[in-house]
Amino acid sequence: MRSTKKTVEKHPIHVKSGDKVVITSGKDKGKVSSVKKVITSENKVVVEGANMITKAQKAQGGNQGGLIKIEAPMDSSKVMLYCPACEKATRIKYEVVDNKKVRICKKCGEKLD
Ligand SMILES: [Zn+2]
Repeated sequence: MRSTKKTVEKHPIHVKSGDKVVITSGKDKGKVSSVKKVITSENKVVVEGANMITKAQKAQGGNQGGLIKIEAPMDSSKVMLYCPACEKATRIKYEVVDNKKVRICKKCGEKLD
């Protein structure tokens, strides 16, 4: 049950579609994969091959119905950006380079954009 009193704060999500991320909790903990989709309004992300759920698909047209596996959205707080230089999840900082905001690995200074 969700409390309706809770105010929803909108935080910008720290990852974007196509980013490499590490999953930090749940059954796929430690997995490195890429972000398929970011759902800003729900603060959720869909990560390729992670948080798989089985869904029943109705038969329609020429297709037989059946069970399909799809990625369920997960909370964006469960993923951390992956730094290819450090080869692990990393914290990021933002820096402005050439008037563009870029994300930088806090540990090694590698640009992640
Ligand atoms: Zn790094």
